[in-house]
Amino acid sequence: MDLLNTLVDKGLRRELPTRDEALAVLATSDDDVLDVVAAAGKVRRHWFGQRVKLNYLVNLKSGLCPEDCSYCSQRLGSKADILKYTWLKPDEASQAAAAGLAGGAKRVCLVASGRGPTDRDVDRVSDTIKAIKDQNENVEVCACLGLLSDGQAERLREAGADAYNHNLNTSEGTYGDITTTHTYADRVDTVQKAHAAGLSACSGLIAGMGESDEDLVDVVYSLRELDPDSVPVNFLIPFEGTPLAKEWNLTPQRCLRILAMVRFVCPDVEVRIAGGREVHLRTMQPLALHLANSIFLGDYLTSEGQAGKADLDMIADAGFEVESAGEVTLPEHRGSVGGGCGSHADAGCGSHGSAGCGSHESAGCGSHEGGSVCGSASSAPAASAASVASAASVASAASAEKPTDARTDLVAVRRRGAGTDLAPNA
Ligand code: SF4
Repeated sequence: MDLLNTLVDKGLRRELPTRDEALAVLATSDDDVLDVVAAAGKVRRHWFGQRVKLNYLVNLKSGLCPEDCSYCSQRLGSKADILKYTWLKPDEASQAAAAGLAGGAKRVCLVASGRGPTDRDVDRVSDTIKAIKDQNENVEVCACLGLLSDGQAERLREAGADAYNHNLNTSEGTYGDITTTHTYADRVDTVQKAHAAGLSACSGLIAGMGESDEDLVDVVYSLRELDPDSVPVNFLIPFEGTPLAKEWNLTPQRCLRILAMVRFVCPDVEVRIAGGREVHLRTMQPLALHLANSIFLGDYLTSEGQAGKADLDMIADAGFEVESAGEVTLPEHRGSVGGGCGSHADAGCGSHGSAGCGSHESAGCGSHEGGSVCGSASSAPAASAASVASAASVASAASAEKPTDARTDLVAVRRRGAGTDLAPNA
């Protein structure tokens, strides 16, 4: 049995792949990318059918953050020419949310820049959640406000929040290279607080920051351990005016391999393509729908996405369907969003044993060949664990840092929607 057959079988059983298997997915060659997508697509369809969940970002407060996350256009000292504004009023946020919901979104993600909310900020967001829920009976609301203090997750839950997003972003080993004003442990703590309060946890990563394949596998395994219900995968948007502006490391094929790896490691979890989808996947976006079951509709926090109509057309043309408000996103064994984080106890995507704002980055709430080891249809003998590991390590060194053309022409600072007088893109 070759690598991909093994991974499909494991994905259908919710069994954790070995690290070498996950590394081997990242090490597959561009020639094998369709085989990788087809295999991970089987796992995606088993747990989520042809459904695509749409999420809509509302940036409640933009820019002027005191934290120094290198990837973020809102960071301390950022020279990026983004919109900067303080808290939207509840009715302003509700209007922006309504545009996304009218466009087909079932979840609204309320995001605010900053290290974390004050209790007064939690009051503001609670009022905003109420304003949105008063107008839209079945909407899911996710808050993304940074690091939480004791009791704040519970207050958000009581106010009607269904979920809380806080990304791990990168591996524990490299976290200090990306951010110095808070720690990886701080981030883990906030995800655990959200879980403990009965909120559906949303936590993901950013690929494309110069990390190694091992780092990517590390963060995805850490996420599986934390067991969020949704995992946004951001592909770094290297904003001019931020320290990572020159980090153009991603090709469409690498993005597909990363999404496939995440799907194999977290098979029954909502995998969301987040920021950088248009910038890095470009015309290959429809293939990514075979891996992820969730995307953001329209614009991101500080950058513009493709037109909401183009998102909907892409989903339909690729043979997928937009998940309706009445449909349950997660497989039954995980429980439903809104009822807490589900019955993860029976395995799910890992145990609670032990991942933003972080999604404030490129995307949003919530960027990022070697040896042919995947066993494509025509190939060769099944790869042994040793050969898989060896190929992975060689290709990883070769591929992870491979420079690509800077596509600054595809990075558009958001100039419409929340915080402006112009209509939102939805
Ligand atoms: S990711 Fe969040 S905490 Fe970090 S700089 Fe951006 S807004 Fe601030």
